[in-house]
Amino acid sequence: MTQHSSAVQSEIDDFMQGLVRRNPGESDFHQAVHEVAETIIPYIQDKPIYKEARVLERMTEPDRIVSFRVCWEDDSGNVRVNRGYRVQCNNAIGPYKGGLRFHHDVTLSTLKFLAFEQTFKNSLTGLPMGGGKGGSDFNPKGKSDREVMRFCQAFMTQLFRHIGADTDVPAGDIGVGAREIGYMFGQHKRLTNEFTGILTGKGLEYGGSLVRTEATGFGAVYMLEDMLKVRSQSIEGKTAVVSGSGNVATYASKKLIELGAKVVTLSDSSGFIHDPEGIDEDKLAYVLDLKNVKRGRISEYVSEYPQASFHAGERPWHVPCDLAFPCATQNELHEEDALALVKNGCIAVSEGANMPTTAGGVEVFQKARIMYAPSKAANAGGVAVSGLEMSQNSARISWDETNLNRQLRNIMQTIHDNCLEFGQDPGDDYIDYVRGANIAGFNKVANAMIAYG
Ligand code: GLU
Repeated sequence: MTQHSSAVQSEIDDFMQGLVRRNPGESDFHQAVHEVAETIIPYIQDKPIYKEARVLERMTEPDRIVSFRVCWEDDSGNVRVNRGYRVQCNNAIGPYKGGLRFHHDVTLSTLKFLAFEQTFKNSLTGLPMGGGKGGSDFNPKGKSDREVMRFCQAFMTQLFRHIGADTDVPAGDIGVGAREIGYMFGQHKRLTNEFTGILTGKGLEYGGSLVRTEATGFGAVYMLEDMLKVRSQSIEGKTAVVSGSGNVATYASKKLIELGAKVVTLSDSSGFIHDPEGIDEDKLAYVLDLKNVKRGRISEYVSEYPQASFHAGERPWHVPCDLAFPCATQNELHEEDALALVKNGCIAVSEGANMPTTAGGVEVFQKARIMYAPSKAANAGGVAVSGLEMSQNSARISWDETNLNRQLRNIMQTIHDNCLEFGQDPGDDYIDYVRGANIAGFNKVANAMIAYG
């Protein structure tokens, strides 16, 4: 990370102290804001208009946070209570947009960090979308299909009054996939008697978009492809380590295999599998069925493919590779993992998950000058195709796969090039994609906020 003058460093420290005071105990949120402050505060030193309008400080205070009780009935007839949230962070450049996360670890801090990141990410896509995020501490794991349905209906019964196609458009995230979106969309339709694009990631039969399922994973690979291109390298023949086994991880793997890489790992919260022969198309089809249909665990992979090994309670970062794709969850890649990756010859990292690398880990990558794409740039492909789903819904049309793939590819290329524009110092060939993404994302939102007075 860049060394700042003492005046700039003390401005960053003061800014962070104020933020921590206003948001005590919210460590994920502090981490996300700190990373942005480190690049934006130096950038706005000679731009008094941003400083006077206190734009960065305003961006860290969500426009609105809604919290509600979600009361539902389990299969044994017991009443269950969870907490639901929607963080509407910033709508300067479009309706609030961002996923819903259902996971037992979800807290307001998690959703505030995700909504803040989403504001920058959505701006980077170039599409008119503000930033938001929501979810619940409901744990879908181990719940029956009917329980998930009743929870989703109860959740939407509370959320529906706060969202709308031109107000706030949620989507999926961890624990919220096509099934949950279907249940929530159905409930919204029952409550309002309206069929509009109030959620994205919908089924194709009811307003969903082609390529949305693949978009986040494919986009993270396109980002890395563009990063390698700058160094006259390609993905072909490289070994890739991927974490996670949900949508993002599996479709990143699919694209990697298509482009000639060898993918050797996948993981879930119980551990990781290492297949030294490489996970091919057929094995990936097995994983997709295992996770999406059977809702099983990744450890079952080794009974189907005995040449692979399962490493309980571990993450895959010590497996030697050229490319790393953290696609599971936040803070899954620590400083010592980053050191192991660098030591074992990893040359590039693209983040499919949101903020998967700790601040210490990012510093290791940057000091080693390896190519590192932060999540707000690398995983923006998902929300980009959500934006395209919104456009199709408003116009009541459907674009074909070739068209959507082309648009996704172009958006990722533009994001890469914007990072290049703001992430390089004269005379230094290292590209700081963190700085590039933060500044490119910030400019558009900040200028809109200033225009509104
Ligand atoms: N949850 C995804 C993200 O983190 C997608 C959000 C969306 O499609 O609105 O970007």
